[in-house]
Amino acid sequence: MSAPDCHSMNVFNDLTHLGNEAAIGPKLYAQPDWSHRFAALGSAFFTEVKPQPLPAPYWVGRSARVAETMGLNEVWLHSQQALHGLSGNTLLPGTRPLASVYSGHQFGVWAGQLGDGRALLLGDLPDTFGHRQEVQLKGAGTTPYSRMGDGRAVLRSSIREFLCSEAMAALGIATSRALCIIGSDAGVRRETMETAAVVTRLAPSFIRFGHFEHFSYQTQHSDSTPHQKLRRLADHVIAQHYPEFQINDASLGNPYASLLQAVSERTARLMAQWQAVGFCHGVMNTDNMSILGLTLDYGPFQFLDAYDPAHVCNHSDTQGRYAFHKQPNVAFWNLHCLAQALLPLIDDQDNALAALEPYRTVFSVELQQQMRAKLGLFDAVEQDLDLIDDLMQLLAQERVDYSIFWRRLSHWVAAMDANHSVRDLFLDRAAIDAWLQRYLLRIATQDSAQTSRTMLRTNPKFVLRNHLVETAIKKARTKDFSGVATLLTLLETPFDEHPGYDAYADFPPAWASSLEISCSS
Ligand code: AMP
Ligand code: MG
Repeated sequence: MSAPDCHSMNVFNDLTHLGNEAAIGPKLYAQPDWSHRFAALGSAFFTEVKPQPLPAPYWVGRSARVAETMGLNEVWLHSQQALHGLSGNTLLPGTRPLASVYSGHQFGVWAGQLGDGRALLLGDLPDTFGHRQEVQLKGAGTTPYSRMGDGRAVLRSSIREFLCSEAMAALGIATSRALCIIGSDAGVRRETMETAAVVTRLAPSFIRFGHFEHFSYQTQHSDSTPHQKLRRLADHVIAQHYPEFQINDASLGNPYASLLQAVSERTARLMAQWQAVGFCHGVMNTDNMSILGLTLDYGPFQFLDAYDPAHVCNHSDTQGRYAFHKQPNVAFWNLHCLAQALLPLIDDQDNALAALEPYRTVFSVELQQQMRAKLGLFDAVEQDLDLIDDLMQLLAQERVDYSIFWRRLSHWVAAMDANHSVRDLFLDRAAIDAWLQRYLLRIATQDSAQTSRTMLRTNPKFVLRNHLVETAIKKARTKDFSGVATLLTLLETPFDEHPGYDAYADFPPAWASSLEISCSS
């Protein structure tokens, strides 16, 4: 592969340009420890692609937390070297940018070949825990998989992905992470003219269900043995991420069925977390489903404002396929697509179906645990399920603000009826009073201060509501990135009170309901 056009200005290859920054020893530069585990799969799995230079790049946001996790030097993350390396203008030494090929089902329909149309994998680096993290530049230009796309991501969607990745991580929800956003005044055409940005994102692997679908359905002419590439992909995922299934012992069963079951269980847990926190993904196509059970590809996502189980956050989803309450079933449908793709390796359809079976139980047990935690219940009794169901029905009937309800309830538990902030959220006061009475009886044996403290660490004060990110985007378009920084701080510590920032935890303004977030990004 030849170097990018801008390689002549690659300061990374010339130590004399580095000055003090080199002496401080930024890890990406001084001790690059890049490896290329995905690339080791072989050329059938990707195409090496040069990033497209991003004209006159500037910083929009950086996550000190992610930098710290990666052992990256803070000074380096403010350097020109980082700015040019992470915008794709220069190649970081040791990196080997590539776009991977995958396929997928989009909105329930087989879409055929897709692939990284605008994301480039640079390689993988160890984090401070010794785990390898793949590093991708999203929006770094066209690839052979861009189809009609321009390979770019707009500032708006990049800010949304950056902030939501970090918000989810702080909520303890499995997700890809985001190190930084770099912007440019280069124009990008969507419904209107917007500007380009590149997000540096990280995950132990960006492999999707769609990768398996691709190599399962691709014609196999070039393979010397049937499903050779599919097997290589599955073996790679097992070796790197599910090593417990690597043991070649027939008595332990088919390793690919074990993989499928583990992915089902992780996905079930992820769905329970999304439902409990009120997160709507918006585009649960199989090409957006992580083989590691991570939240991936932030597009038209939304944290619920009013609790409406049938809420559809993606304006392009006219059928409501990815409505909030459908997410657990959609994930299960997607897992059936993965099972179908893995079938040639599992052989037996019954085994594949058996591997999916735990999904329902894991989802329901996990969701119950999550909801009990939200209610601050220290143990489990059978009647809890009715208590939870009745509450959810009441919240839905009255379209109560989801996050505000839980936060107010968490405070109310300590103060009891000293103020009426919880019941003020409901028109049907008798109904909520009756429910609160049942709830009080249920927690009567628990220490109320301790219950409240636990709930305040479970029910976030700050979630990334659409109107909040929209306001930060508007400011960022005027080159004022303070809104992005403020939101990042609040979302990194969403359970803290942050005195002075109550407006960020308040009800959405009236204009929020008219925001239309589509697939356009
Ligand atoms: P998404 O809906 O963002 O998951 O994208 C679905 C597919 O379209 C993936 O293959 C993306 O890489 C590709 N894609 C989305 N936007 C662009 C773009 N602006 N340029 C090239 N490919 C894109
Ligand atoms: Mg995608």
